[in-house]
Amino acid sequence: MTDRVVFYSQLDTPEPWRAALHAALPDLEFAMADAVTDPAGVRYALVWNPPRGFFARFPDLRMIVSLGAGVDALVTRDDLPPGVAITRLQDPLMSRMMASYVLFATLRLARDIPAFEAAQRQARWHFIEPRPLSRIRVGIMGLGELGLFAARECARLGFAVSGWSRSPKSEPGITCHAGMDSLPAFLGGCDIVVCMLPKTPQTIGLLNAERLAMLPHGAGFINVARGDIVDQDALVEALRSRRIGQAMLDVFTPEPLPADHPLWRLDNVLITPHVASVALPDSAAPQIAENIRRLRAGLPVNDPVDVARGY
Ligand code: NDP
Repeated sequence: MTDRVVFYSQLDTPEPWRAALHAALPDLEFAMADAVTDPAGVRYALVWNPPRGFFARFPDLRMIVSLGAGVDALVTRDDLPPGVAITRLQDPLMSRMMASYVLFATLRLARDIPAFEAAQRQARWHFIEPRPLSRIRVGIMGLGELGLFAARECARLGFAVSGWSRSPKSEPGITCHAGMDSLPAFLGGCDIVVCMLPKTPQTIGLLNAERLAMLPHGAGFINVARGDIVDQDALVEALRSRRIGQAMLDVFTPEPLPADHPLWRLDNVLITPHVASVALPDSAAPQIAENIRRLRAGLPVNDPVDVARGY
C-alpha cells in the first residue's frame, strides 16, 4: 500500500526533509504538494502556512504536521479536515537552539552588556559591580517543550528561575507558578522575564500595560514567542519611561517590523528578525516517523495539538 507524505512550505527547503524522512522511514513516499496529481495514499502533510482549501485536496489525510512549534496560524483555520490528527515538531535541537538564544539574551542583560556597549561608544570606562547570577530572578512564561528546556538551562547556569504555566508543575530547581491568579506574584518576582507562551485566544494581549507594570522597575523583557502576546504600544511606552530597562525582541506585530516603527529607534532594545529557533530535519524526522508508525499500527499520535486549546 502506498503511503505518502506531502510537503508544503514557502519558507523551508524540502530536500533536507525528504532525506531525513527517507532515513527514518525508507518506505514512505515524499512528494511536493504542487506535484501531486493523484491524492490517493497521501496520508500525511508536512506544512507551513498552506493556502486555504489545501487539505481538501487530500481525502486520505490522517495527520497534519506543523513545520514549526507555533501552531497558532494552523489551529485557527476554518478549513481543517475533521478527524485528522494535528502534531507539531518536538525537536530536541530546536529546543537547544531556542535555549541558546534565551541564555544569550538573559546573560546579556544579567551581565550589563548593553551598558558596556553604550559606554564603549563614548570610550568611557564604566565599572558596574557584577551581580552573582543567583541574585537575578529569571521568569519563564510558558513551561512547554521549549520553555521548560530554557528554564532548566537558566537554572543550570545558576539564575534564580521561576516559571509560569497554565497547569501546575513541579520541577527541581524551578519555582513553578500556574494560572492567572498567580500571574501578578510571578511577574512581580522577575528581574528578567522571558515570554515563551503559545499565541492563543487566552494569551493574545496578555502582557498589556497593567501587567507590564507588575514587573519590578527596570526589569528586562525578552520575547521569543509571538508579538501579539504583548501590547506593543504599551511595551514601547514602558521602554521609553525605562520602567522596563532593556528588551530583547525576536517577534513582533507585524512581521517584518515596519522600518518606521518606534521600537527600532529605542536605545534599550535589541531586535532580531524571528530567528530564535528553527526546526531541524535530522532531529525532527524521527518524531514524525514514530507518529506515522503509530498511525499505521492503529495507535493515536504522540502529543497531538489540542485545537480547542490552541496549542
Ligand atoms: P508548548 O505548546 O510546548 O508549551 C506552551 C506552554 O505555555 C505550556 O507550558 C503551557 O501550559 C503554557 N501556556 C499556554 N497557554 C497558557 C495560558 N493561557 N496561561 C499560562 N500558561 C499557558 O510550546 P513551546 O514551548 O514548544 O513553544 C512556545 C512558543 O514559542 C510557540 O508557540 C511559538 O509561538 C514560539 N516559537 C518561537 C520561535 C522563534 O523562532 N521565535 C521558534 C519556535 C517557537 P501547560 O504546560 O499547563 O499546558
